[in-house]
Amino acid sequence: ERLGFAVVGLGELALHQVLPAFGRAKRCRLAALVSGDADKARAVASQYGIGRENLYDYKAYDRLADDPAVDVVYIILPNSMHLEFTSRAAAAGKHVLCEKPMATSAADCEAMIAACEKAKKQLMIAYRCQYEPHHREAIRLARSGELGPLRLIEATNGQNQGPPGQWRHRKALAGGGSLPDVGIYCLNAARYITGEEPSEVSAQVLTDSSDPRFAEVEDRIAFQLKFPSGVLADCRSYYSAHESRRCRVMAERGWIDMDPAFSYQGLRMKVARVERGAEHVSEVRLPSPDQFAAEMDHMAERAARGERPHTPGEEGLQDQRIIEAIYRAAREGRPVPLAAAPGRDATR
Ligand code: NAD
Repeated sequence: ERLGFAVVGLGELALHQVLPAFGRAKRCRLAALVSGDADKARAVASQYGIGRENLYDYKAYDRLADDPAVDVVYIILPNSMHLEFTSRAAAAGKHVLCEKPMATSAADCEAMIAACEKAKKQLMIAYRCQYEPHHREAIRLARSGELGPLRLIEATNGQNQGPPGQWRHRKALAGGGSLPDVGIYCLNAARYITGEEPSEVSAQVLTDSSDPRFAEVEDRIAFQLKFPSGVLADCRSYYSAHESRRCRVMAERGWIDMDPAFSYQGLRMKVARVERGAEHVSEVRLPSPDQFAAEMDHMAERAARGERPHTPGEEGLQDQRIIEAIYRAAREGRPVPLAAAPGRDATR
């Protein structure tokens, strides 16, 4: 039995990635649409065979409580709206799958976790790469000890983000610039590859604020994360150069390279191993299933069993706490220590 999903927000990601992914999913089905644009909602609904009775606008959203076809609400709205729409979904008795970044402040993340706990509903943050085979293999290999101890992680995720005037350039809606939008993939990867939480961050922002896109949010940001085992992650994100999405993990006796690492498809992975003094580089060929179908199926499976998802609200909260420390480190021009993270999911 497939769980029914309501998709909230019919923007780029919803229309071009998430809605088509239902066709490749095995444990969920599209059951309802929520949009502020009635014409668009009707057009999309007819394309996906959704009846008028399963269309909602933002005001009618709370009436999802009376729609038994909907088990899970997938929130794909601008970042600052995630709190309100998560809280209302939980109050309507629905599980929540929410896009990254979880919210625009750690306080909002905490309120989202509390709202879902109170309603006894599951909350998952849509960290698609954690459900993707190349990243799963990188995690396995990095933590297996096969390549010796990890030393460095280099990760970059960026793209040209134009034109000006979009919500991603407004601090109140986005929470920040390239860091919470795409740099978060580097941050999250450094955490899941090491399986550790950083103890210190330092950072530098480079932004031409005369560019109308960057009046409120940062363009380029470089940040370093120090992990308790001694691993240093050196990460970058940007909004003003051609896209590049790569990740390399350097260990004592080899490396893991993913390029592209954070794209929707076409991920490639190479592994170097040093054996008897000689380096052997091999390409690791893995399937590239639809990342959105995989993450939605995971949510459906866990929600159906009443179990916590692999990337719960706490995962989004921890990234948000680190993002806030990164901004502080950049502002103050000095390293910022991080408190040890509270209890984490042992299955990570
Ligand atoms: P988008 O601008 O294309 O879509 C946003 C939708 O929200 C639009 O339909 C818009 O009409 C609606 N909306 C409602 N109120 C709005 C307001 N006040 N201002 C602007 N839009 C408003 O954005 P998107 O790229 O689809 O991103 C949506 C969410 O998905 C964000 O949280 C983003 O970080 C996330 N996202 C995740 C991935 C991923 O790979 N997981 C990729 C892209 C976006």
